[in-house]
Amino acid sequence: MSSFDKYKRFLDVALEVSRYGGFSKKYVGAVIVYKNKFISSGANRIKTHPRQKLVSVDTEYLHAETDAIISAMKKKKDLSGCYILVARKTKDGSVTMAKPCSHCLGLIHEVGIKKVVYTGWNGRLCEIDYKHDKFSMEKKA
Ligand SMILES: [Zn+2]
Repeated sequence: MSSFDKYKRFLDVALEVSRYGGFSKKYVGAVIVYKNKFISSGANRIKTHPRQKLVSVDTEYLHAETDAIISAMKKKKDLSGCYILVARKTKDGSVTMAKPCSHCLGLIHEVGIKKVVYTGWNGRLCEIDYKHDKFSMEKKA
C-alpha cells in the first residue's frame, strides 16, 4: 500500500468538484482535509473574489485553492493542521498537473496549511511539505 492511498478518497472529491466551477478551460478542484475529515472544497471559478485580489494581481478568475480556503475559513479558524489536495482534469478526462501557483501557495502558507498534495503529470500525486523546507522539497508518489 502506497502512502498516497489515504488521499484517494479526497482525490476523487477534488476531481468531482473540479467540474463545478463553470470554468471550461481548466478543471481544477481543491479539497481541504483535517484529520482525514473533509472540511471544504473549491473549484476554479469565473467569478472573482476580493480575497483573490489580495493574493494575485494578474488573475481574472478565482483559483480552486483560494476558493477552498475561503470556504474552510468560514468553518474553521485555524487551518494549521489541515492539508490541501489539488487536482486537475483535462477535457478528455485525464488527470494532469495541478501544482498551485505562487499566489495560492502564498495564501496556503499564510493560513498555516503545512502540506500540499497535488496531481502531477500523468496523474501521479506529488506532495509539498513545507514544515521543514519551505516549498523546496517535493516527493514523488
Ligand atoms: Zn492559484
